[in-house]
Amino acid sequence: MKILLNKTSLTESLRHFNDIGFVPTMGSIHKGHLSLISKSSQMCNKTIVSIFVNPKQFNNKKDFKTYPKNIKKDLKALNQSKMVDFVYIPKFKDIFKNYKKPKIKLNEKDKILCAKYRKGHFEGVLDVMDRLTDIVRPAKIFMGSKDFQQLILVKKYLKKKYDANVVGCKTIRTKNKLALSSRNYLLSKGNLILASKIIRKLINVKKNIKNKKNKNKYLLTVKDNFQKQFKIKIEYLELRDINNLKLSNVINTSRIFVAYYLDGVRLIDNL
Ligand code: AMP
Repeated sequence: MKILLNKTSLTESLRHFNDIGFVPTMGSIHKGHLSLISKSSQMCNKTIVSIFVNPKQFNNKKDFKTYPKNIKKDLKALNQSKMVDFVYIPKFKDIFKNYKKPKIKLNEKDKILCAKYRKGHFEGVLDVMDRLTDIVRPAKIFMGSKDFQQLILVKKYLKKKYDANVVGCKTIRTKNKLALSSRNYLLSKGNLILASKIIRKLINVKKNIKNKKNKNKYLLTVKDNFQKQFKIKIEYLELRDINNLKLSNVINTSRIFVAYYLDGVRLIDNL
């Protein structure tokens, strides 16, 4: 596993390869990341993982400052996986300096779910994904369905500019059904248990929703009840179509999307 600290060494190291799988991450590597890496190593000749906590996608300074970082542990986990050929750990200026691009704007219809509550977040994500894809020039990019809205927006955005295929990968969960996430490292043991309980309850809600006439109206009452019962702040709890993310009443082609705060930590999931 070769560690690349800047664009120059990356370009030099990758120039002989043309079937590169790329796994962009913000570090604090967990089994969710490793599942994307595994997919990449099965489908591509070489796999490169990037670790970069992109300040431009944080709409809240405190959230950026407290985002879990542990580069030593990450490198150990990636190395031990034996599936990673290159790790790119750029500095901010390596990605953003000397390279001006037109400002990215989201369509009005895309300003839903996380885009509604995290102003500028996806603009920051699309910007960094554009820059990283331009630097790495991968054949395939592996991203998780846990961040479903991100997956859809990045796929659509990169399609216009690059040949790279974005491959969506399934969400990896603990045995208690909690989706793995770097932000889980910020939760106490008690809150991890509570987060698992909330997700298991939502899995039941998804089963029950089949019989409800107006499914999103029902989810509003569930949202109220959950907020009271678990003393959490839920930003959204909505059933949306998986193809266009429009509010939906058809269970087979939809998922329940949720974002909530637990002890100041923002968690998202979709079921
Ligand atoms: P992050 O480091 O949180 O920016 O995530 C990097 C990539 O890993 C993104 O494509 C995420 O969607 C994906 N990812 C995060 N958590 C999981 C998970 N539990 N299962 C599968 N993929 C995940």
